[in-house]
Amino acid sequence: MSISQTIDLPVTTPGTVRSLKVRRYGRPGARPKAYVQAGIHADELPANLAAHHLAGLLEAADRAGSVLGEVVLVPLANPVGLSNVIFNDHQGRHHAQSGQNFNRGWPNVAEAVAEAVGPHLGADARANGDLVRRAVAEELDRLVAGNEAESLRLVLMKLAADADFVLDLHTDAQAELHLYVDPGQWPGAADLAGFLGATVVMLCRNSGNDPFEETVSQPWWLTAERAPQAKLEPPFTVVVELRGEGDVSDDLARRDADALLHFLAHRGVIAGGGDAPPAFDGIAAPLEATEIIKAPAGGIVVYRKGLGDWVSAGEAIADIVDPLGDGEGARTPVLACTNGRLFARARQNLAWPGAPLAKVQGREPLPGRVPGRLMYD
Ligand SMILES: [Zn+2]
Repeated sequence: MSISQTIDLPVTTPGTVRSLKVRRYGRPGARPKAYVQAGIHADELPANLAAHHLAGLLEAADRAGSVLGEVVLVPLANPVGLSNVIFNDHQGRHHAQSGQNFNRGWPNVAEAVAEAVGPHLGADARANGDLVRRAVAEELDRLVAGNEAESLRLVLMKLAADADFVLDLHTDAQAELHLYVDPGQWPGAADLAGFLGATVVMLCRNSGNDPFEETVSQPWWLTAERAPQAKLEPPFTVVVELRGEGDVSDDLARRDADALLHFLAHRGVIAGGGDAPPAFDGIAAPLEATEIIKAPAGGIVVYRKGLGDWVSAGEAIADIVDPLGDGEGARTPVLACTNGRLFARARQNLAWPGAPLAKVQGREPLPGRVPGRLMYD
């Protein structure tokens, strides 16, 4: 049977308290350890619903004695953002008080860890792993959060930092199922992509501004880079984008939870991993090859292309209509700059110059797409 834990977040408003509910399956401290969190962007509810269904599956597995390692699940990772309802509209992506995106600015201890453990690493991957995990924990213990969002990140990071598998469940605005994966985990992560039926996998280690999954794995990758002679096995970290924010259904959430359970079994966290993953037949390419198509003008977006459509460089994916204009002169075409698969679109149809409207995954890195500046907010 699972163990439930409640972690109170620091009080920021007198008279209120918020807390995280953490569920633990298997034997505490057993390996491999998987950490799964859902909805750090609090308006991405398909992620929370999938985690809810996953909790039921994990509970059954635990009662049957099938959890070989340990699974730590946070089905609702952001109670701060979930409460952020303004004028009957929920805004869960940014921290209302500071304006910070909840999935940027995670504590990044890579430099300090690489420096501390580099000289002490040897040929034993397990011993090296213990050293890195201990150094990460020590560095995280030194940090002091400056506001409510930072407190939340630090608490979650401490739960995740020593895991072997870290799955961060999100949702795009309107989208097909897609993944962000560290290039060092590809093509190994094709099993997860196959189980989930992902159509696009973006490979990235440093997208910019320290999103959660990258700050979990970067201490390992940087240490490996600085000490190439040492044997290290960095954790498997991934962002799973469970389609679009409106794709809320028990059927989809059950299917996603089942796929995640199959992945955990396939990787030995849970018993019974005999099922071969379906072949991944989507497109896997660097995040530098992902075009974020932005609006060239303000107006009403009328899409010509839908999710899953293949587009060519120079092809119009949408028009922006100025309702005050006349005839064809009222329309500004929105052009793709690469050949690829359109896999995500904006939630709203009001455009302003520079507004991100769609994502197209190509195969070749695009000019202007450079590590460290690959995310748009
Ligand atoms: Zn998100």
